[in-house]
Amino acid sequence: MVELDSLGEADTVRNYVGGDWITPESDEELVTTNPATGDELGQVPFSSTDDVDDAVQTANEAFEDWSGRPVEERIQPLFELKSLLEENIEELAEILVQDHGKTRAEARGELRRGIENVEVACGIPSMMQSGTLLNAAPEIDESAVRKPLGTFATITPFNFPGMIPLWFLPYAVATGNSFILKPSEQDPLVTQKLFELIDEAGFPDGVVQLVNGGKDTVNALIDHDGIEGISFVGSTPIAKIVYERAAANGKRVQAQGGAKNHIVVTETADLEFAAEKTVSSACACAGERCLANDVVLVEESVYDEFADLVVVEAEAQTVGYGLDDGTDIGSLISEEHETTVRNYIQTGIEEGATVLRDGRDASVDGYDEGNFVGPTVFGDVTEDMVISQEEIFGPVLALDAVESVDAAIERMNASQFGNAASLFTGSGADAQTFRHQAEIGNIGVNVGTSAPMAFFHFGGWKDSFFGDLHAQGEDMIQFYTDKAIYIERWPDA
Ligand code: NAD
Repeated sequence: MVELDSLGEADTVRNYVGGDWITPESDEELVTTNPATGDELGQVPFSSTDDVDDAVQTANEAFEDWSGRPVEERIQPLFELKSLLEENIEELAEILVQDHGKTRAEARGELRRGIENVEVACGIPSMMQSGTLLNAAPEIDESAVRKPLGTFATITPFNFPGMIPLWFLPYAVATGNSFILKPSEQDPLVTQKLFELIDEAGFPDGVVQLVNGGKDTVNALIDHDGIEGISFVGSTPIAKIVYERAAANGKRVQAQGGAKNHIVVTETADLEFAAEKTVSSACACAGERCLANDVVLVEESVYDEFADLVVVEAEAQTVGYGLDDGTDIGSLISEEHETTVRNYIQTGIEEGATVLRDGRDASVDGYDEGNFVGPTVFGDVTEDMVISQEEIFGPVLALDAVESVDAAIERMNASQFGNAASLFTGSGADAQTFRHQAEIGNIGVNVGTSAPMAFFHFGGWKDSFFGDLHAQGEDMIQFYTDKAIYIERWPDA
């Protein structure tokens, strides 16, 4: 059972506003469960428009003082937060496994990626600088400066609750803004623990707030006049709605959506290495990753050999409870999502794809209530099939043979999504063609999952991203600040 000091009565998740833990007034709530054991973990009340309004007003009041503090002072709580995250990483990982269902190693990896963003944001004093030009005109010097804007809100999905909030929060506050997080209602406990650490880190009250809830809470945030900008990460249909509504309300907005990602394997690739990376890309975190590459296009001459290697690799995966040693693939987030994934597998069968490995019979001793699906491998998956086009978000691979790398790129670029793709090859020429031609935001060569480090932006094109400035790195500085120009003349000089 997850034990947190900040939970309210009956293990109720609470909001964090103005430095206090607050139970939102609400009739709507969700029960969160451990997706591997079915155990009830707590209640998640949905914050009302009034709860959101309190958080926004508190954040805006805090902004008045915070934005004027020296930048060196603004990054001190981030150094403290980094230490606290390191000290508590094992506890955070354990909560994450229980609330989400992934494995302990995956949870640690996710948190490490989150910490990386805190580290990068500690460099804001250098990153936030802009240029100055002496003698830009007769007797005139000109400088460009960056200024924080006010309160920003971030809305996050269920699949990386320990990392995705940290793609945004550290940059928002280090640049001098106030910040509100609305995490996924499906697994809010690791975020609650994160905010216990934020409470200890020494941010002034009101600079960072946590508001739990669902759709209405999100709408209250994107409609609120007191919010300057919205960051959203989630599925494409919701990303589009949030992008359009927030933009219509005059806000800055960046909205990351869903995906359908491709791996291309050429005949010059190291096939065993490529098969191992392919299965781990598609099946890690039970396939619940926006960067999972699950459509696999293989040059005809090596298709059969590669498909066999993929099946062997898929067979070697152990499905189980994320806290148990030896588990490679944990549980899916909910029973509802498990049904969705199983329905996609059924669709693949009905569409005529060849079942090379069926993961539907995955059962784990002692965890009858768990939402488990094992790695499932389809062959002969043509471009027109639903399982080739739609995001499944489960451990399901769709393999097909292609004539050439050019044919694979053409097929990949026809997708409505553009989040990630990887090429496995021994040919520099193929790699260069792929890099130039792919209409994709995160491109890997001999890399299974092309997840950018925190000092680079997180890519995403087409229906995988709405906006222009992305999460992480330098883009975050631009998103969270506006530029002003100073033009100075001192005739006596
Ligand atoms: P989701 O879209 O269901 O929910 C995301 C957030 O939106 C949650 O906080 C939820 O409360 C809120 N929400 C849900 N319905 C809403 C509505 N109608 N109006 C306003 N807000 C609403 O996504 P999810 O199932 O939590 O996460 C999985 C999805 O996120 C996948 O599609 C995955 O690809 C995507 N994702 C994308 C990235 C990326 O970087 N592109 C990263 C992680 C996840």
